[in-house]
Amino acid sequence: QIQRALRSLAIPLDRLHIMKTHMIRDMCKGLNRHTYAEAKVRMLPTYICSTPNGTEKGNFLVVELCQSQVRTLLVTLYGDGNLSPQMMYKIFDMPESIMQGEGEALFDFIAQCVSQFLADTTSSDTINSEESLPLGFVFPFSCRQTQLDKAELLSWSKGFSCSGVVGKDVVQLLQSAINKQELSHVKVVALMNDTVGTMMTCSTEGRPCEVAVVADKGSNCCFMAEAHLVETTEETSGRMCVNTEWGCFGDDGTLHDIMTPYDECVDEESANPGEKRFEKLVGSLYLGEIVRHALIALTAEKALFTECDAAVLKEKGVFTTQQVLEIINNEDGTTEVKRVLEVLGLHPSERDCGRVQQICRAVVSRAATLYATGLAAILSYMCRTREMEQLMVNVGVEGELYQGYTRFEEILQSVSKLLAPECTATFLPSRDGSGRGAAMVTAVALRLAAQRREVNEVLAPLRLNRADLEKVQALMRQEMEVGLGRDTHATASVRMLPSYVCHTPDGTERGDFLALDLGGTNFRVLLVRVTEEGISMASEIYVIPTAIMQGTGQELFDHIIDCIVDFQTKQNMLTHVLPLGFTFSFPCQQVGLDKALLLTWTKGFSASGCVGRDVVHLLRDAAQRKQHKGLQVVALLNDTVGTMMSCGYDDPKCEIGLIVGTGTNACYMEEMKNVGTVEGNEGRMCINMEWGAFGDNGCLDHIFTHFDRIVDDSTINPGKQRFEKLISGMYLGEIVRHILLTMMERQLLFQGRPCPKLQTKHIFQTKFLSTIELNGLALRQIRAILQELELDASFEDSVLMREVCQAVSLRAAQLCAAGLAAVVEKMRENRGLEQLDVTVGVDGTLYKLHPCFSKNLQNTLKDLAPKCNVSFLLSEDGSGKGAALVAAVASR
Ligand code: ADP
Ligand code: MG
Repeated sequence: QIQRALRSLAIPLDRLHIMKTHMIRDMCKGLNRHTYAEAKVRMLPTYICSTPNGTEKGNFLVVELCQSQVRTLLVTLYGDGNLSPQMMYKIFDMPESIMQGEGEALFDFIAQCVSQFLADTTSSDTINSEESLPLGFVFPFSCRQTQLDKAELLSWSKGFSCSGVVGKDVVQLLQSAINKQELSHVKVVALMNDTVGTMMTCSTEGRPCEVAVVADKGSNCCFMAEAHLVETTEETSGRMCVNTEWGCFGDDGTLHDIMTPYDECVDEESANPGEKRFEKLVGSLYLGEIVRHALIALTAEKALFTECDAAVLKEKGVFTTQQVLEIINNEDGTTEVKRVLEVLGLHPSERDCGRVQQICRAVVSRAATLYATGLAAILSYMCRTREMEQLMVNVGVEGELYQGYTRFEEILQSVSKLLAPECTATFLPSRDGSGRGAAMVTAVALRLAAQRREVNEVLAPLRLNRADLEKVQALMRQEMEVGLGRDTHATASVRMLPSYVCHTPDGTERGDFLALDLGGTNFRVLLVRVTEEGISMASEIYVIPTAIMQGTGQELFDHIIDCIVDFQTKQNMLTHVLPLGFTFSFPCQQVGLDKALLLTWTKGFSASGCVGRDVVHLLRDAAQRKQHKGLQVVALLNDTVGTMMSCGYDDPKCEIGLIVGTGTNACYMEEMKNVGTVEGNEGRMCINMEWGAFGDNGCLDHIFTHFDRIVDDSTINPGKQRFEKLISGMYLGEIVRHILLTMMERQLLFQGRPCPKLQTKHIFQTKFLSTIELNGLALRQIRAILQELELDASFEDSVLMREVCQAVSLRAAQLCAAGLAAVVEKMRENRGLEQLDVTVGVDGTLYKLHPCFSKNLQNTLKDLAPKCNVSFLLSEDGSGKGAALVAAVASR
């Protein structure tokens, strides 16, 4: 019979695994916005999003409502790593009548305690009553919190049942009561559960504690969850402490198969039958009772106390958890058991003593094992949601059971390791209870509020409102007109270069074409086949040696012809005469489709004798020199035009080309009658805007920030391409780097520690923005980036860095949208349409790979140009395809 009882109290490992899975499932349910209302494990958000970092300073008042006491505490932090805060405290006993009386009386009593405490401590001149004194309120009941200082009481427990409080904001109630005491300088800034206080108490001396387990009369656990998973709050970045309220785990019946008849008796006799099933297996309020019911049952079965009267066991509460712990902590012999049982008035035999001891041990070690299972669920969940292979975490532990049972920590450690082998927990005992932690929470809240104000100040100039963007749009429109005007174009910052491409593809283009692509990352020669089935291509990449890039024009173009000959030979097409399109991505003044004067070299090219000359002519001359007779150059085009044309083949509505890569530029189809720089009024022509130079005449000066000016000053072309420098891949990383430097100087990052690596130009690459802004996956990868930068960044630092990246990339996308809005609105007006349907062909790695750029661009554009319905089409190999299509359209 004894063996059977012991067996029923032992839970097999596979059953623990199942329980862990159930716990995780219930946690997810509590966090999910659709299911949280029915969840038993309530997963209450606490709005505590940060742990202390040691820089907190000042006086903090804490008031803690306990079972039958109000505790007040004054903590002074020195910003010295919180090593030795000064603390003063006072405990007030609370009359029992208050716990069941009116709510107002309860809060008045608490406020009186605060007043009394302050009267005693103010004389010690730590406090200046002029300054406001922040107060943290430890309120150990279930609350639905909506802010750190806003919490609605869900239900009373622990013997409390004050009227008129459930459903009300308890922070407000306390603040009103405090104000009545004429203590209006005391401001309630944070409310928290005692579990959270414990976590924060353990979180000092540079070791963040991210989980807390309270193993006391009741049972609870809290931990730092990824904020975006806490769907019951708006918070999406960083982490938030979640109060699991796991005591209710099992209230839906999940635990029924591990419940013993003794547990059922304990539950039936409790004040809340059917509720808090997990807590009733582990809380120290219940362990004595479980043992008592086990002993009653075994006595009835005649397995115990056969030689004495055990009626005393019938009395509820007669066997306390304290006694149980004394019995199992003294395992040598049975003297202690005998003593305890005799105090109860029993006369146990030696055999009885041994058996009682076994039962006690089974009940308490089951509790410890269940704690470990719950903890394993939390740890595994944290590890998985942080996308880590291994989790190392500090766990604060507190409570009667933890302190009273010598083997508790050992069981917690070994069983949780067994169930969650990927996690390593280090246990930190909380010696000061929750009070000090509450002061920390309060201090952190104030630190974060101050930091938030400063961060906003730094980022404010980068944040553009709708009026700013409308102004940019209007300015772009104005510059476009200037650039198109016959008499004004010479002074325009947006050059609006005619391309002599007058038609987009209509899908009837057919034939084989040669294409050249010079000016991107590689030089390529392509054979493009346009057939009824679509476009197919063959291409070769050729290296242009630096000596040739920087030699003479003749050498360069001779080399290009050599490459063409090599390509044609490989393709067996040496004798074919094919029309050739030339994508030449350098600024050109075009005077015909096949006539373009090079304005200047960029991107490391400096071949002599080319600037001011017709590039097509230079190519033809080289062909002649090389006696290549079959070359028929029909068109030279910019890569924006190529992008538009290649997308135009798939979508006839594509009449705009956009590039957002290393640089940025756009082109679109303009009415010939508006193009003052080219004769003729019929039809349309594609205009290469060269919009990167927008603002070079000073018209955008009002939106440039201090950071933009520093970045501009350090480029090879200061004052040039000002619009591009706000938008494109070559610059965004640099802007972010300079903002980070400023934040570091203002001690908003890295706790003010210097980061010499960050001084290096271009060390912060634009692709980092993509990685950092990508939600979810980012954390691990952010770490990798930060390590590359030799940065010792905290979790909060990485959240702040993400905010900086978001501000910079959002602004870039918005400005790009403002430019596009000017273009589509002009096209709509040109055509006298109420509504314009148009497609933009886009190329460029920033646009294609950044996680939010395209979305932000499209949303802003919709907002700024509501009468235009704009679609976006990604261009694939626009330079090659586009060149062939320009040639095809020209010969159509
Ligand atoms: P180009 O404009 O020279 O033709 P790309 O369109 O490929 O070339 O753009 C290259 C630029 O894209 C790089 O200079 C870099 O700034 C940026 N970039 C590269 N990778 C990423 C990424 N993952 N996310 C955002 N930007 C990127
Ligand atoms: Mg490109």
